[in-house]
Amino acid sequence: MKKLSITILLALLIASAAMAKQPKNVIIMIGDGMGLAQVYTAMVRNGNSLNLERCTFTGFSKTYSANNYTTDSAAGGTAISCGVKTDNYMIGTRPDSSSVENILEQAERNGKSTGLVVACSVTHATPAAFVAHQPNRGMDDEIAADFLKSNIDVFIGGGRKFFEQRSDKRNLTNELKDKGFQIAYTLDEVNAVTDGKLAGLLYEEQNPDITQRGDMLPNAVKAAINILDNNKKGFFMMIEGSQIDWACHANDVELETLEMLDFDKTIGLVLDYAAKDGNTLVIITADHETGGLTLPKGNMEEGTFAANFSTKSHTGTPVPIYAFGPGAENFTGFMENSSIKAKIEKIAKLK
Ligand code: MG
Ligand code: ZN
Repeated sequence: MKKLSITILLALLIASAAMAKQPKNVIIMIGDGMGLAQVYTAMVRNGNSLNLERCTFTGFSKTYSANNYTTDSAAGGTAISCGVKTDNYMIGTRPDSSSVENILEQAERNGKSTGLVVACSVTHATPAAFVAHQPNRGMDDEIAADFLKSNIDVFIGGGRKFFEQRSDKRNLTNELKDKGFQIAYTLDEVNAVTDGKLAGLLYEEQNPDITQRGDMLPNAVKAAINILDNNKKGFFMMIEGSQIDWACHANDVELETLEMLDFDKTIGLVLDYAAKDGNTLVIITADHETGGLTLPKGNMEEGTFAANFSTKSHTGTPVPIYAFGPGAENFTGFMENSSIKAKIEKIAKLK
């Protein structure tokens, strides 16, 4: 009996030590516009199953911004990356336009490598909120220039023209090379890079939708992790399924489902990496819901459903948050989108 209780005590101690383990790497994945109904379209289509379901802890994020019941992606991204609610359209600043340190900058200060992989221009609102500090999301040229001011190691997406065809005539690609960046214009060129700094500018402006883009997102994510993983101190990365939102603005549920499935495929490979690594916290959430999507009817066996959008804009309803890996247990219940950064800081012991 005594032996048994000692065994139980030991098992509990080991379990609690495992729970308290500090992750070395943090990967935050944002499905832009991804509400619960968007997740469910992909789940039903995919035979009642998603990689997302492997996340062991789930909660909800309240997305309202500093000046609006319904956030945009700039304020939504800033809340997640900088830990402050700001006004719509603002990138990495407080409502008074003062800059706030973002989680990538903080990770860099702590000796970690950092990266971004997105299915849109790297200057678009969501990725911009993790790199830039500008009063308006529409300032693509200024946001591109902020990449030069940052210490980011890897970024892959579209937006080449904001680096090379600028109103100020600067060629930021050349400036990136001077800073030690390898430049990739194609996915093959991205895949050839296994170390160092990488700027992947795969499209002139926005990436095409999933029907044209193919496996760009999961493949680019795989390449980025392979590079960032070289740092013994770990890495911090943001990955965005950028066009779930755009399909919902267009009220195109078929395209939304395909974009969602692409994001879930990417989630699958990230969770595979995190499970194998054992040292990686993965947080998957959205900046807001788009379209006010409801799914009143469907057929699970056939993988079909009827969809109704109630708006062509964003909505204010809370979005799901899913977590996997050491520290995942901190992401349960309702939370403010602006509280996510502080949780990560505490769990990953960022100074
Ligand atoms: Mg976005
Ligand atoms: Zn949107």
